[in-house]
Amino acid sequence: MSLKEREPEWRAMSLEVIVGMQEWRTQHPKATLREIEQALDERLQRLRARMLQDTALASAAREWEAESEEVRCPQCGGALEGRGRKERHLQTHGGEEVRLEREYGVCPVCGTGFFPPG
Ligand SMILES: [Zn+2]
Repeated sequence: MSLKEREPEWRAMSLEVIVGMQEWRTQHPKATLREIEQALDERLQRLRARMLQDTALASAAREWEAESEEVRCPQCGGALEGRGRKERHLQTHGGEEVRLEREYGVCPVCGTGFFPPG
């Protein structure tokens, strides 16, 4: 799915941040700058994680086959064999979890399995 197709969802989530902050401010008229920052960050993290995930998936067109010659086992240097796509869970700086589907490889020599960088 292209990023252009993600736009309605991104817009909706952006609007949630805006409306959410407006409501929050009404409920917290005496909030300190720090509290405002915290409330804003909480809302932005969700949008940030989604945009990060969608953008990463959109560029995941880099397939294993295309770079398999460069992918070597980090343990012993053996050439990794592709094992299809697996879901990978990553934590963003904001603590949100992002799920990426990536090519997964296993070293035939020592059995180490890992996701190629990128
Ligand atoms: Zn190995």
